[in-house]
Amino acid sequence: MSDCCSAPGLLPFEQALADMLAQVTPISDVISLPIDQALSYVLGQDIHSPLNVPPHNNSAMDGYAFEIKSFLTSGTLTLVGCSMAGAPYQGECKLGECVRIMTGAKIPNNCDSVEMQENVHVDQQKITFLKEKITKGSHVRNTGEDIQKHQKVLSKGHRLSTIDIGILASLGVAEVRVYRPLNIALIATGNELKLPGQVLTDGDIFASNSFFLAAILKKFNVNVIDFGVINDDFQAIKKAFVAADKQADAVISTGGVSVGDADYTKDVLDELGDIGFWKVAIKPGKPFAFGLLPNSLFFGLPGNPVSALVTFHQLALIALTKLQNAEPINRTVLKVITTTELRKSTGRMDFQRGVLSLNEQGENVVTSTGSQSSGILSSLAVANCYIILPADQGKVSAGEIVTVQVFDDYIR
Ligand code: AMP
Ligand code: MG
Repeated sequence: MSDCCSAPGLLPFEQALADMLAQVTPISDVISLPIDQALSYVLGQDIHSPLNVPPHNNSAMDGYAFEIKSFLTSGTLTLVGCSMAGAPYQGECKLGECVRIMTGAKIPNNCDSVEMQENVHVDQQKITFLKEKITKGSHVRNTGEDIQKHQKVLSKGHRLSTIDIGILASLGVAEVRVYRPLNIALIATGNELKLPGQVLTDGDIFASNSFFLAAILKKFNVNVIDFGVINDDFQAIKKAFVAADKQADAVISTGGVSVGDADYTKDVLDELGDIGFWKVAIKPGKPFAFGLLPNSLFFGLPGNPVSALVTFHQLALIALTKLQNAEPINRTVLKVITTTELRKSTGRMDFQRGVLSLNEQGENVVTSTGSQSSGILSSLAVANCYIILPADQGKVSAGEIVTVQVFDDYIR
């Protein structure tokens, strides 16, 4: 680990991320799941299309199918049959003839074009075109125009989206191989913490960290093992960590990673595993512990809710993505004008909270959510992006261009 030159003793964010990822070995167990249960799972196989989609030329409109030569020869064609979706026309359609056709129905042999029913005049079996020009191939959806047979459609490591589930169904794929869900233990530490539903006594607060972490992890499709709140007590913390390590692929704790009098987490972890206590050069979130327990990865997040969320989202989640074998999360980054001044001192990279919007000129602009104190969870609730300010950046004036990272689905 090398130190950041501008902030002695602090590990630059990129370095922390790289050091952490270097210690993560992805899981290898795959399971089979029916596609309707596979949303958000990570594919453990490449998916190649077993067929052309669509499997046959078909009509994009309700109308009449014919060969373009027929149209070029005569403005009126003779109706010889009908092609319905699922009940194709089986006969011939010769020069001068046409077939009534419905959307999605197979284009009859010899036919290559379709005219919409709104653009013809029907007189019993005589169909007269109202338009003077029709191009060959009009309103025909071609075999394989969506997906070609044998084409690679989805890659191993891809996290299945709602659309992907539809694509798998369109290929006739009923089951997929995916990586098994991770088991992740959550441990909140602090004598002052009470769970919602309990009664607060003097000096207490409600524990919120494990709740939003569990909510994010659910979207990430993992099994959460919640150890609740553990008191600041060496033996109690040790017992929880030992039990968590036995059951989980990763253990995430919050609180107790700074060096306060009641911070026993460090002593316990020094005894149990190979854990690095990092001061990452980011704000919020300076104290962050990461390393290996006997059976699992360990992430020690700071207790302040905003710091816990930012370090989880920007560091731990990236490592868990690798552990899950998933392709890296793709986050949208934009350069926009800040409408507000942004307070900032040099030395740490800031993840300030902002609201991205369009101004009257139709330009993207970002506005600070106000106080950036790491205890103010509501600042994250109203935000829709991080304003990312590099370590060497000082104060930013209104009107300057800044980099924002739009909140991804995990924290929206
Ligand atoms: P610590 O890192 O344990 O010193 O905690 C830093 C701050 O975060 C303190 O104000 C704690 O009360 C608060 N805190 C710690 N854990 C939680 C939690 N699970 N939910 C909400 N606040 C917490
Ligand atoms: Mg504490």
